[in-house]
Amino acid sequence: MVRAEDIRKSFGTLEVLKGINLEVRRGEVMTLLGPSGSGKTTFIRLINHLETISAGRLTVDGQLVGYREHQGKLYELKESEVAGMRAEIGMVFQRFNLFPHMTVLQNIMAAPVGVRGERRQVVKERAMGLLERVGLSDKSHAYPGALSGGQQQRVAIARALAMEPKLMLFDEPTSALDPELVGEVLDVMKDLARSGMTMIVVTHEMGFAREVADSVVFMDDGVVVEAGPPQDVLVNPQHRRTQDFLSKVL
Ligand code: ATP
Repeated sequence: MVRAEDIRKSFGTLEVLKGINLEVRRGEVMTLLGPSGSGKTTFIRLINHLETISAGRLTVDGQLVGYREHQGKLYELKESEVAGMRAEIGMVFQRFNLFPHMTVLQNIMAAPVGVRGERRQVVKERAMGLLERVGLSDKSHAYPGALSGGQQQRVAIARALAMEPKLMLFDEPTSALDPELVGEVLDVMKDLARSGMTMIVVTHEMGFAREVADSVVFMDDGVVVEAGPPQDVLVNPQHRRTQDFLSKVL
């Protein structure tokens, strides 16, 4: 589903990603960990073209991200084509970014109706189904400000799912939450993982990684230091940098 080949990214003279190679297959869950500044967020943002890659080859579902290849040359996609590509990738951020002036239901329905032009009634039924799935059926008419952080994040997940994405990206989805609210969000994510969704999750929640991840990638200073099944990378890390990092977060 996602294939990164020797991906590099620089901001000015600062090289943030220094040749990332990794692959996530359909239905797999990958968790990305690493110290602050190691490039995790940047990598996630490249996948839906919120940043442009400096070098390398990145594909989602076989399609080059942000470019079309024709006779060996690359052509940038038009803004509308990029938007179409993004619509198939759900993203959940550390901050929930819900529209404060819209109800929960309106938040979830906004993109399918407004961007994709789907019929209201069809989207409403889907939205109510998603609210049930994230355990918030009774909050459909509430405004985000009246919800806890955990509830808002669950709405944000439902909102991303409303576009029926083929891939979900999570960037530290629980790190802004009070500790007692983390579990409810992780439970929704675990349920999603078990349903077969392809997911890339930046998180330091080791329990989540151990329980549902197919692979764990440890990044440091713009490179993949170690990658593999959780029982290898988390339980029996081979590299000193991984060991040091894990000893601090576990
Ligand atoms: P964190 O866990 O703190 O979010 P991270 O591993 O996600 O860290 P990134 O956010 O990808 O790391 O940042 C990697 C490096 O790139 C940092 O040094 C950051 O300052 C730099 N960086 C990120 N975005 C930009 C930008 N738009 N312009 C310049 N530098 C940037």
